[in-house]
Amino acid sequence: MTKPSTPPAAPHLPHEDFPPIAAEAIRLITTYLRDIESRPVLGPVHPGDLLNDLPRHPPSTGAADTPSRDLWSALYADLENLILPRMTHWQHPAFFGFFPANASYPAILGEILAAGLATPAFLWVTNPAATELEIRTVDWLAHALDLPPEWSISSGVGGGVIHTTASEATLTALVTARHRARARAMARPGWNPASWHPTLYTSSQAHSSVIKAAMVAGLAHDPDDRTHIRLIEVNDALALDPVALTSAITADLEAARTPIFIAATVGTTSSGAIDPLPEIARIARVHAPDAWVHIDASHHGVAAICPEFRPILTGLEECDSLCVNPHKWLLTNFDCDVFYVRDRRPLINAMSITPAYLRNAASDSGQVIDYRDWQIPLGRRFRALKLWCVFRHYGVEGLRCHIRTGVHLAQIIEQRIHDDPDFELVAPRSLNLVCFRLAPRPGESSPSADARNKRLAEAANASGKLYITPTILPGPPRFVLRIAIGGPATEERHIHDAWQTIRDLAHHAEG
Ligand SMILES: *Cc1c(COP(=O)(O)O)cnc(C)c1O
Repeated sequence: MTKPSTPPAAPHLPHEDFPPIAAEAIRLITTYLRDIESRPVLGPVHPGDLLNDLPRHPPSTGAADTPSRDLWSALYADLENLILPRMTHWQHPAFFGFFPANASYPAILGEILAAGLATPAFLWVTNPAATELEIRTVDWLAHALDLPPEWSISSGVGGGVIHTTASEATLTALVTARHRARARAMARPGWNPASWHPTLYTSSQAHSSVIKAAMVAGLAHDPDDRTHIRLIEVNDALALDPVALTSAITADLEAARTPIFIAATVGTTSSGAIDPLPEIARIARVHAPDAWVHIDASHHGVAAICPEFRPILTGLEECDSLCVNPHKWLLTNFDCDVFYVRDRRPLINAMSITPAYLRNAASDSGQVIDYRDWQIPLGRRFRALKLWCVFRHYGVEGLRCHIRTGVHLAQIIEQRIHDDPDFELVAPRSLNLVCFRLAPRPGESSPSADARNKRLAEAANASGKLYITPTILPGPPRFVLRIAIGGPATEERHIHDAWQTIRDLAHHAEG
């Protein structure tokens, strides 16, 4: 064989150039976050604005013919001039839309370190430190949330894992539920796969990710397919009605169908309603012992680190899994959902597959956790680093201060709305979430009241001074505005300013 000729080397960034260029990125982030208030929460952006400013083709040579310093200062200038103005600024103190997506410097440092250490730690052996740091930090969070000891890897048969999102956690829970229920059904005499009809239950107020999980798992063809899904009615507090759940389960059992999964929500996205976990767990135990009870506490769940808010998780002991998102309200940059199970064995049974190339002595010994068996993808980021940085920096007490601040600020705005005759609260405040609307005028039709509220929401968001997301609450359907507080930069003055803006816009629009 002839000796292959050596191709030119890729123009890697030299080690010595990295620190100053990285320092520039850090400076940019710091200025961005420090001065974010001077930007509109969302400026006037039109579809295609950024696309039109970006070249159609990628650069051909990059650093091969431009000195790195020049190349990176041009790139940072583009970031500043083209990209930042087209962003929705979630870290803006007047961003009250959806739910918060907290960032913090400790978590940002954790992200930088994770990028720098660069390991897809899917098996223990592919980065023992990543696995064990994750076990410890999710156990810390379990302890802070006051979960029962069996929900921790170090003290029980359950434990936690960091997923990308609650959507991934809910899909994983559903697939585990189906696997466990099917295995039990297969073990019974007269098993007939053709007539096995699994069913799942969640409230009409549950997050769309539950139905999407069913779609991905092959249990729903489209969002309206009710072959396997039962959407349970809610009570006046917009929480799942246990009586309706019992009837739905009973009807399915009578029709020889198998309830496999119940998804309860602690903190619904629309109104922050909290489903009654103790009743749901009891119904499952009595009527549907093969059903897996999953708690979607994506946003509200982390508040349980404060003893006074821990009651939101009462009843969890008898459920099977829980997901909470530190990436929403616990100062940890997206993405970081923590998925807990009371018993990890059904999860691993449902998720484990071991081709020859994934076998190794540590895994075979059964003494290690291989997190690939706790999730859908194989590869995974070193996300534990950022949660670890957040815990080390804030401590549990510091995190509690953050949660309490969000709740306190929500109480302030709740009071302002309550005291204002032009507005009304439409659901009880749920921790840091307040739902309200312009009060209907005497004799006003509901479409007219809805239209006025819709115009107000649009005007508020177009003002650039704040950002809120509206929703529709059932029974009778009403268009309402919601304010979700909890950004680390939000202070009392931002709440007063936001309320003033909303009032001014309302009076302006009403003429
Ligand atoms: C935000 C939210 C979700 C979805 O969260 P992701 O982590 O983005 O998948 C699911 N359920 C509830 C109740 C939520 O608030």
